[in-house]
Amino acid sequence: MDSELGPKGVETVCEVCQVELDRISEVAQLTEQDIELLRQPRRRINANIPVRMDDGSIDVFPSFRIQYNGARGPTKGGIRFHPGVDEEEVDELAFLMTLKCAVVDIPFGGAKGGVQVDRKELSVGELERLARAYIREYHDVVGPQSDIPAPDMNTDAQIMAWMRDEYEQVAGHQAPGVITGKPPALGGSEGRNSATSLGGAEILDAFVRHEGLDKSLDIAVQGFGNVGSHLALFLHERGYNIVAVSNAAGGIYDETGLPIPDLFEGYENEQDLFDVDAAELSNDELLTLDVDVLVPAAIEDQITDANMADIRADVVLEMANGPTTPQADQYLADNGVQIIPDILANAGGVTVSYFEWVQNTTNEYWTEETVQEKLRTQMQTAFEDVAARKTEADREKSWREAAYAKSVDAVLTAEGYRSNMPTE
Ligand code: NAD
Repeated sequence: MDSELGPKGVETVCEVCQVELDRISEVAQLTEQDIELLRQPRRRINANIPVRMDDGSIDVFPSFRIQYNGARGPTKGGIRFHPGVDEEEVDELAFLMTLKCAVVDIPFGGAKGGVQVDRKELSVGELERLARAYIREYHDVVGPQSDIPAPDMNTDAQIMAWMRDEYEQVAGHQAPGVITGKPPALGGSEGRNSATSLGGAEILDAFVRHEGLDKSLDIAVQGFGNVGSHLALFLHERGYNIVAVSNAAGGIYDETGLPIPDLFEGYENEQDLFDVDAAELSNDELLTLDVDVLVPAAIEDQITDANMADIRADVVLEMANGPTTPQADQYLADNGVQIIPDILANAGGVTVSYFEWVQNTTNEYWTEETVQEKLRTQMQTAFEDVAARKTEADREKSWREAAYAKSVDAVLTAEGYRSNMPTE
């Protein structure tokens, strides 16, 4: 969408932020002043980064870092490498990071970064030079006490390692807490790899207890990547029946339950998903299966106005970021589907990123068991807070509205104390 001028003549870029704020403003009874505080990121920085390519030429990569709101602490959010990344997308993701950190009550604000690049086109050397150049470009605005990046789409632990190293070379001292998602050998946390999925499993368990259901639920998982494969394994171990999983090439289905431990091992060994004895189905068919719980764990915009009328699951656990469009979200909520929103369901990853930063800051390192125990507590508490918010409401709110209302309240309360405004 093109930029346009908002009510006070200020440029508005992020349409989704505006739509979501309008929705929250009703349920959380926001004032004009509240909306004014939240409708724009605090700071947008961009840079066109020149990088020397292997053939001696120089390519220039547009890039962004957007710090949406830092009232609750240093801003936090990943850096994505993708050809389609733009300011509006990064705005939206930074806004959602602000809410995500607040909903699980970790003392961070929200940010996001991006580089317009097709990672597959770069050699390892070019990738390293781009990662290091990004940090040199944004060195003044990131830091362990100001803004803490992490991996996102097409960035990984190796890239975080280069970025930490580059930051320290410019700073002239060690600063492990400048970035999270690092390899454990370089200050990364144990348990980070499966944290998003463990967090999602805890949220589903808490939901099942809250609704008085039992765990014999049939579940379909779209996207058997890092998040989907670990989640399927955690849920299988807890007694849920995983009947379908998929990747970009399509999916497999067995109504009596798929052999998840074998499939997980196959994923870890980069084997084909279709090597097991099960019926094949397309991703479109998976999304409309008659299951109890549908778990989109692949990419954004999977449940849309094109398929919302065909969704037959009773519950959607959003492990991917933004898998449901606002229109489909409203339609499904009106039809009684309970959607557990991404900012709550997949917040286990950023929670363990926070644990990584705590370990880097205190120089005390925890075992995987300790990390997982702390994560369980944090996720259960977050779910109970959102459930209480939903129950207390004088009219039925969706899980998304309750989660948004809780997090926006937390951000505005912190803003209130900072700016000496009344908090009620
Ligand atoms: P991944 O790349 O490891 O896995 C993605 C999976 O989705 C792969 O199996 C891929 O084949 C599949 N896929 C891609 N396009 C698809 C399509 N059109 N239809 C069906 N399947 C498709 O990524 P991941 O780390 O597992 O992340 C998955 C989602 O979870 C993303 O939306 C990501 O933003 C979100 N998320 C991840 C984390 C994390 O810690 N990794 C944290 C929060 C949110």
